Amino acid sequence: SNFDLVKLSEEITEEMQLITKQNQNIIYEHTGLTSMVRLDQNLLKNCIINLIANAIKYSGENTFIEFNTEVTSEKYIITVKDNGIGIPAADQKHLFQPFFRAHNTGNIPGTGLGLNIVRRYAGLMHGEVDFESTINKGTKFTISFLIDDEKTNYSYN
Ligand code: ATP
Ligand code: MG
Repeated sequence: SNFDLVKLSEEITEEMQLITKQNQNIIYEHTGLTSMVRLDQNLLKNCIINLIANAIKYSGENTFIEFNTEVTSEKYIITVKDNGIGIPAADQKHLFQPFFRAHNTGNIPGTGLGLNIVRRYAGLMHGEVDFESTINKGTKFTISFLIDDEKTNYSYN
């Protein structure tokens, strides 16, 4: 159903800021004429939390995380960008497989399920998940939804 993406995103930012590292800041910005979207709010919240949790976990102290939302007449775009450890090129094709963890995670804990869930939840809403990453530089994840009135609706509530 319809909800305010900016309101949700601000709430998530505030919650996730509580579990950041020392001097790690989440910067949220929205672009677009409206902030109202038609998606499943709970599925989307889960996706965003997973991406921000990864950004926190896989980047260091004294860094910032850029969280952006955009609503145009054609699509909704959500991005989470960090300045962290990045993902080795050879690992990138396996990233959404359950239990897969990249080879540079060292002793950072995790089960390798978060991104698989993100992709499945985004898929339920007819969305796509993409990423760009450079090792030792950072990673940017994007979830995008084409607004297509012909298709079945985006709401599972
Ligand atoms: P969890 O199930 O607790 O989320 P996880 O974080 O290891 O565990 P995913 O979120 O599925 O699992 O991520 C899979 C792997 O992708 C991670 O183990 C890590 O190697 C890599 N990864 C994901 N996000 C990032 C990121 N922002 N920066 C660097 N590597 C990342
Ligand atoms: Mg994770």
